[in-house]
Amino acid sequence: MSIKKMYINGKWVLSNSGAVREVINPATEEIIAEVTEATVEDAMAAIQAAHRAFYQDGWGETHARNRAELLMQVADRLEEEIERFAVLETLNNGKPLRESRYDVADAVNQFRYYAGLATKPTGQVYDVPDDIQAYVVREPIGVAGQIVPWNYPLVMAVQKLAPALAAGCSVVIKPAEQTPLSLIQLFEIIDEVGFPPGVANLILGEGATVGAELARNPLVDKIAFTGGTVTGKKIMKAAADTLKNISLELGGKSPNIVFDDADFETAVDYALYAIFANQGQVCSAGSRLILQETLYDRFVPELVKRAKDIIVGNGMDPSTEMGPLISKQHMEKVLTYISLGKEEGAQLLCGGNRLFEKGFFVAPTIFSNTSPEMRIVKEEIFGPVLVIQTFKDEEEAIKLANDSQYGLAGAVFTSDGAKAQRVIRKLRAGITWINTYHPTFNEAPWGGYKQSGIGRELGTFGFEAYQEVKQVNIDLNVQPSGWFKRKEMG
Ligand code: NAD
Repeated sequence: MSIKKMYINGKWVLSNSGAVREVINPATEEIIAEVTEATVEDAMAAIQAAHRAFYQDGWGETHARNRAELLMQVADRLEEEIERFAVLETLNNGKPLRESRYDVADAVNQFRYYAGLATKPTGQVYDVPDDIQAYVVREPIGVAGQIVPWNYPLVMAVQKLAPALAAGCSVVIKPAEQTPLSLIQLFEIIDEVGFPPGVANLILGEGATVGAELARNPLVDKIAFTGGTVTGKKIMKAAADTLKNISLELGGKSPNIVFDDADFETAVDYALYAIFANQGQVCSAGSRLILQETLYDRFVPELVKRAKDIIVGNGMDPSTEMGPLISKQHMEKVLTYISLGKEEGAQLLCGGNRLFEKGFFVAPTIFSNTSPEMRIVKEEIFGPVLVIQTFKDEEEAIKLANDSQYGLAGAVFTSDGAKAQRVIRKLRAGITWINTYHPTFNEAPWGGYKQSGIGRELGTFGFEAYQEVKQVNIDLNVQPSGWFKRKEMG
């Protein structure tokens, strides 16, 4: 097995330490690749290359049209290879192949969207007094450090890479330790289409060392991170010394509110999809079902029956509806939360156990009889575990929904249009749905309230996240200000 390399300053390189990390298929526990493991010195070399590319070699001053053309080429090449990328994503992450295909297509669209946005008009002109012409230009922030998680390895990377490169930043990106493979393959395309050396750099390695260096290093102007809230706080602290521009996309414990006047089939269907898509490893997962009491006896038996019917298996099998969790360590964390739920007195309605001898599979799990103080209700489990909370009226539903340190996403199911709007406006969350769950689009902003993050990715917001704003004032009537009086000599 040849060791997969990193991409620094336009070259494929091995780590200076010679260290290697094994990459595992979570469905089979087999080693599917070996990748080089960066040291802090490797990270520094990548940062220096990005700094040179931006500040000395002119990437920051390239024309938007040139950058857009490069991104369009990446999109076209990626589109030709959707199947190859999707298979790799499923082998490395475990998610069912149909989800991986969707993810790769989404990444293609992200490159196209930001290629398009790069050349669109920006800036503003102001009507100000005193014969001054005032306007604003947007400029790239500089060197962007980007750190991504393992749950959507390609999409999470591209939604950072594409806007940063479109805006004219240079980039050092680090995938999660568990899932580097699709990003390595993407960098083969980045290499092929001919970005100048140092513009896009890929480092592989541990968060606590290599990732922390990206957050800390004074040559990095912006740090963009997607991952856990605890890690996000560490990154913010590390970035504080140099007051880096920061974007954080963090965890969630999102409420899915179902009223008794909701379309029954739709609400059951989306309650399942909200939590069990991608094995529950979705930051915006609807992990708290907030259900109107009057609907409980009809809704819950149907929900449990349908959860038990979900076909769990290897993501490469076309019949699979839910795959394995990412790693043994993560599976153990999820199983620990399930034990905790039982100890806390919640009622286990289905699942709760590991499946199969090989692979990190956990059965779709539902808890009822919960209370807001329970840790399984408060904390992000990031697995296929749903907790049910019940409410009497609209006011109580909103109170339960907002009773969280997180504020990433939330949904409401009801046939009453005015009620739906009232509830959504009261939700303290950045991504919301009415009578659906999960659909989001590259055109619209993505991010959270409260401890779910800072800033927004995607859409025009995600582009502006890589830009500085400069005001320019031109005097149209060139003459001295006279503020300090000219004194006569002697
Ligand atoms: P994680 O925070 O453990 O790791 C994410 C990334 O950060 C990895 O690349 C890791 O190597 C790196 N990292 C770890 N410690 C670091 C440090 N001290 N300094 C710098 N980098 C460090 O998260 P995870 O377990 O990979 O991902 C799951 C979490 O991500 C969940 O909490 C989930 O909600 C969140 N997430 C959020 C979004 C969003 O858009 N809001 C999307 C996907 C995942």
